[in-house]
Amino acid sequence: MRALFFIAILVILGSFKIGSENFDAPAKIENRPKNIILMIGDGMGLPQVSAGFIKNGWHFSLEDFPVVGFQKTYSADNLVTDSAAGATAMACGKKTKNNMLGLTPDGNPCQSILEEASMSGYATGMVVTSSIQHATPGGFVAHRQARNMYEDITLDILASNLDFFVGGGRQYFDNRENDDQDLLAALKNKGFSVYDKNTNSLENLRPDPNHKIAFFTAENQPTSAIQGRDYLPDAAQFALNYLQKRSENGFFLMVEGSQIDWSCHANQIDPLYSELADFDKTIKQVLQFARTNGETLVIVTADHETGGLGLNEGTARMVSPKFTTNGHTAAMVPVFAFGPKSELFRGIYENTEIHHKMRQAFGF
Ligand code: MG
Ligand code: ZN
Repeated sequence: MRALFFIAILVILGSFKIGSENFDAPAKIENRPKNIILMIGDGMGLPQVSAGFIKNGWHFSLEDFPVVGFQKTYSADNLVTDSAAGATAMACGKKTKNNMLGLTPDGNPCQSILEEASMSGYATGMVVTSSIQHATPGGFVAHRQARNMYEDITLDILASNLDFFVGGGRQYFDNRENDDQDLLAALKNKGFSVYDKNTNSLENLRPDPNHKIAFFTAENQPTSAIQGRDYLPDAAQFALNYLQKRSENGFFLMVEGSQIDWSCHANQIDPLYSELADFDKTIKQVLQFARTNGETLVIVTADHETGGLGLNEGTARMVSPKFTTNGHTAAMVPVFAFGPKSELFRGIYENTEIHHKMRQAFGF
C-alpha cells in the first residue's frame, strides 16, 4: 500500500524514470553552457563543407564536432532563403520574408538571442568578414524592412547592447548620406573604444573589459581571403579573451565567414577554398578555446547553400567542383555542435530551432 502510494506520487510528479539519477537527486543542476558561440559560414552547404574536406586531404575542423544535424532553410515566402531571412530565423526564431531583418513577416520586431542574452547580463559580440551592417550580423541586432538599409541598420547597432564587434562598414557611421550624424562619436559616447585596421592591430590591443570595443576592418566591405584578408581567426580569439572578462555571467558570440557566400555567387572555386580555409582556421581556434574552457557550446552552421555546388568529377583525393547557379539553393545545411547541451542540435529541424535550442541551452 505504501509502495503504491509512493509510485502514485512519482507518476503525479512526472519524474518516474527507471534507472535515472533524477530518482535520488531531483534537484541536480543541469550541465548548461556559460557561453555560446554561433559560427555561420554564409552559403556553406554540404557541398562546400565536402569540398573543404577533399581539398584538405579529407580533413576539416568540423570532424572534431561530436554532434551533427541538418536545418531546413526555406523562408516565410520562398523555398530559397536569402541571408536576411536566414539570419532572422536563427537569431530570432521566426521565419520571415526574404530581405527582411529582425522582423516577423507582418513587420513586428522579434527579439534576437543576442538581445536576450544581453538583457540577461551576458556579454555579446560579433566578428564578421563583411560590413557589420550586412544581412547576417544585421539579423542579430537590427529590425528593418530591407537588408540594404545600411544607415538605419547602423542606428540599430548603436541602439543595441552589443559590447564588441569586428567588421567593415565604418562609412555608415561617419560618412552618411541620409543625415550628417557622426555615429563614431556616438559610439564613443556609448562607451566604445573605436579602432581601425589602418591605424591599429588586434595583436597590440589589450582586451580591456571596462570598455566596449568596435574594430573596423574596412570602410565598406573587407577584401577577400584570397586577396590577403586574414583577421578572422585573430579577431575571434580576441573576442573570446575579451568577452570572457567582460561579464561573469558568460557571453554570446556570433562569428561569420561572410564571404564563402560571395565566392559561390561569383562561381569562383579558388576564392571559395581561401574563404573555407580562413573559416576552418577560425573554427579550430574557437574549438581549442571551448575544449580548454569546458563551459562553452559551439555551433557551426550556414544560412543556406550558395551556387548549387556539384562535386561530380575527380579522383579519390581531388575534386573539380562546378557551380549550377549564381544564386542560393534550397538544400538543407549541416549543423555541427560541441560542448554542453550540444546534443540538442542532433536531428533534422527548422532553421528557427537554432534560436530555440540556443535559448534552451542557456536556460532562458
Ligand atoms: Mg552573410
Ligand atoms: Zn548570398
